[in-house]
Amino acid sequence: MAILSGKVALVTGSSRGIGRAIALELAHQGADIAINYVHNAIAATEVVREIETLGQRAISLEADVGDFSQAKTMVDCAIKELGHLDILVNNAGITRDMLLMRMREDDWEAVLRVNLKGVFNTCQAAMRPFLRQRSGRIINISSVSGLMGQVGQTNYAASKAGMIGFSKSLARELGPRGITVNVVAPGFIPTDLNADLDAEMQAHLKSLIPLARFGAVEDIAYAVAFLASAQAHYITGVVLPVDGGLSM
Ligand code: NAP
Repeated sequence: MAILSGKVALVTGSSRGIGRAIALELAHQGADIAINYVHNAIAATEVVREIETLGQRAISLEADVGDFSQAKTMVDCAIKELGHLDILVNNAGITRDMLLMRMREDDWEAVLRVNLKGVFNTCQAAMRPFLRQRSGRIINISSVSGLMGQVGQTNYAASKAGMIGFSKSLARELGPRGITVNVVAPGFIPTDLNADLDAEMQAHLKSLIPLARFGAVEDIAYAVAFLASAQAHYITGVVLPVDGGLSM
């Protein structure tokens, strides 16, 4: 029996990488899906087709999550087109890695705007319908960088650590209304985001991971599907690292 039968999920940044895998897994578990992208319409359309092949409904919505009104319009469209919304996955994220000494102000602002303000934007848009229906699942994709820090990632780590404080606070605000807010913190998962890491750096990173290998996008998707399911109804405010033991 599919664990998300009858549910509707919006997954931000789901045209590629981890977001795409989350969207496909939630659809595999019976949910209808709103795909979101910012530039890559062709890839988003392809994910919609894959979900339809699984027998679920899907739409794709262009929106920059860092823009307050675009994020609100995206949430409203998902509800209008798919009937209701049960699950919000904040996955869209960017990096602009640079040692702080050389980091430009716009590198700082761009990362905080998409990775952290984007979460504020979508959560505020989704919480009203969630409050009305007295149910809802919010799952925010952070990073081990937000737990451990990483050289060259002061902006990214600040955004991902900020997301954790945001999520715990929101979990407290929304808990009494039957809405859960949780965080998944991926370790190193090969995607376009980190495709430029050289072999030496990859070998170094691998040497730090107790399971001695990188994760796959599906590893993150399975954790998100569990947190979105009825079986996880008594779990809120947690940060679940999916990182091969890297952050323990
Ligand atoms: P990715 O392959 O670079 O994909 C990024 C996705 O986000 C794309 O769908 C992109 O859309 C979308 N996006 C970017 N900016 C956006 C914006 N302003 N508004 C809406 N969508 C936007 O990244 P990924 O590796 O899958 O990472 C996904 C999430 O996991 C991120 O939050 C990242 O920080 C986190 N994470 C990743 C790793 C890892 O090792 N990969 C580790 C820890 C955490 P377009 O296709 O339209 O550009």
